[in-house]
Amino acid sequence: MAKLTFVGGIHPYDGKDLSKDKPIKAILPKGSLVYPMSQHIGAPAAPIVKKGDRVLTGQKIAEAGGFVSAPIYATVSGTVSAIEPRRTVTGDMVMSIVLENDGLYEEVEYGPVKPLEELSKEEITGLIREAGVVGMGGAGFPTHVKLSPKEPEKIEYVIANCAECEPYLTSDYRRMVEEPEKIINGMKVILRLFDHAKGILAVEDNKPDCVETFRKLTASEPDITVKALRTKYPQGAERQLIYATTGRAINSSMLPADVGCIVDNVDTIVAVGQAVLEGKPLMHRIVTVTGNAIADPRNFIVRIGTNYHELVEEAGGFQTEPAKIVSGGPMMGFALFGLDVPVTKTSSALLCMTEDEASKYEPGPCINCGRCVEACPGRVLPSKLADFAEHGDDEQFLAYNGMECCECGCCSYVCPAKRPLTQEIKSMRKIQLAKRKK
Ligand code: SF4
Ligand code: SF4
Repeated sequence: MAKLTFVGGIHPYDGKDLSKDKPIKAILPKGSLVYPMSQHIGAPAAPIVKKGDRVLTGQKIAEAGGFVSAPIYATVSGTVSAIEPRRTVTGDMVMSIVLENDGLYEEVEYGPVKPLEELSKEEITGLIREAGVVGMGGAGFPTHVKLSPKEPEKIEYVIANCAECEPYLTSDYRRMVEEPEKIINGMKVILRLFDHAKGILAVEDNKPDCVETFRKLTASEPDITVKALRTKYPQGAERQLIYATTGRAINSSMLPADVGCIVDNVDTIVAVGQAVLEGKPLMHRIVTVTGNAIADPRNFIVRIGTNYHELVEEAGGFQTEPAKIVSGGPMMGFALFGLDVPVTKTSSALLCMTEDEASKYEPGPCINCGRCVEACPGRVLPSKLADFAEHGDDEQFLAYNGMECCECGCCSYVCPAKRPLTQEIKSMRKIQLAKRKK
């Protein structure tokens, strides 16, 4: 049994058996494609095409809106039919480029690539920036910014987040099974940026096949080690992952780079490899389409911009009417009110459940059982924080370290009174983060 872990956490039903043993299937979009200009943290991208323009697959259609931003590329060939606000998974209307797919998939010629050894560090981060790579685990932080810390010589570990601790999600698992070399190649690219860093492939011990494959493939790579972590949610959360793999702790006002670490998820590392070694922009991602309501749950490699309706169709449609649809996993995803939204760079999964556990029970009063405190990996007091949030008490919320919550959902999951602890705390954190920005 692996020993590497963190304090707190839970063991929810993981639902991974629904999709984990089926190979990834590549699908082509049928309808029009929608590209929101904000699918990353930072300034929105700015369209560089106009209505009526014909574009090719792999052509840049929106330029980064600043240093902390990312460009966007067409993922099919076709004609720009509109540039207008469209609904996204968060429910927000976001300015988007709409592309009528001509079904020809005519592609641009990608620029020539140089061998990795001949590229300078600046050229490598430039290629990553130009390819529009952002954190594809859900955060959407532009990767070239993350890979440009103030003191790169102090980075000691580049950690590949291969934990995939969120229940039901199996896209990283399938990638590790089917294309482990792409992850290792991407890791080698990132390691070129940091002269004193070692790579860590951090995998939960419920994926022993991946641990073994990685160990074999890196046997002659002295700079890359494979670490098996104890399976526990949220093992893949940045702070918990850093602590489990290096013993170093960070809080909400620190960056991983402050303790010599860079963390990237599996799909992001693959996209880095594609950008630098193949000169290709970010155009695809793997999406897990799963849940008991789905007829044939599995993973798809999808062109960004594809409509969620098409994912459900490709997965055989609904076998039962879903009670709840979530973009992402059950612990940290967004509940969706409809499927008419596009896949973006950060869409990891579409989960369609036949039962909505959360809304089945009426929340009751706290019985002071302490389970939420025991489960909390942020080492805060969820019941108190939720009270402060409910009463709008900013001062006490901050005094009780409310900002150290990573919004993992463990407290709500274990609460016998079914209190919406995470939702309350999350709303208050959002308000505090907005105040910090001002
Ligand atoms: S308070 Fe935050 S960090 Fe702690 S269990 Fe709840 S959601 Fe997770
Ligand atoms: S788990 Fe729920 S009932 Fe128990 S102390 Fe926390 S808030 Fe109260």
